[in-house]
Amino acid sequence: MSQRFVNRESKEEVLLFAKQLSELKLCPLTQGNVSIRDAATGLIVITPHDLPYDNMTIDDLVVIDLDGKVHEGSREPSSEWPVHCDVYRERKEVNGVIHSEPIYSNAFGAIHKEIAPIYVNMAIDVGGSVPVMPFTDSGNTEFGKEMLRLMGNRNAIIWANHGMLTCGKTLKAAFHCTVMVEICAEMYHIALCHGNPIAIPQPKIDLLIETGKE
Ligand SMILES: [Zn+2]
Repeated sequence: MSQRFVNRESKEEVLLFAKQLSELKLCPLTQGNVSIRDAATGLIVITPHDLPYDNMTIDDLVVIDLDGKVHEGSREPSSEWPVHCDVYRERKEVNGVIHSEPIYSNAFGAIHKEIAPIYVNMAIDVGGSVPVMPFTDSGNTEFGKEMLRLMGNRNAIIWANHGMLTCGKTLKAAFHCTVMVEICAEMYHIALCHGNPIAIPQPKIDLLIETGKE
């Protein structure tokens, strides 16, 4: 680590996407949390614990290392920082993580039904269906490990009776994935009301990803 402080751009990105998630009603009130892995330092910029997004500024963000030690900022990091750090530790290609609490995705979490890849943009972003992790307290030390096991190499998972986690090579990709899953969940809900939705076969999804139609 040659640089001591994280890039201002990393903080600006976290703030931008956190506010957009709030405006899109994907993170109600102070729910959800957003983080980025700063390329220059390897440190994590994360939204603070229990603060509304409306008036959040760059100075409210917290910089931590993978063990949760605070390097910058006067606030407490989001209480779900261990899950974010577990993802960064295990998935080296990931540089952005979002935990959101969207209505349609959460509805499928409530009935423990995975969201099938019935929408091409969601399928490419996620890499397949969105699995559901049975309810466990997200503060549990084994939570992140179990979540990563269920996710495999996918970029999204629903925490039953709680919310969603997405990740991506960039925070922008994780944001895109969050929005696409929620749109797909709404479509899936409507499709289920009318009949039997047909998912895109996994080999086709793999091919779309491989040919770079992202
Ligand atoms: Zn939550």
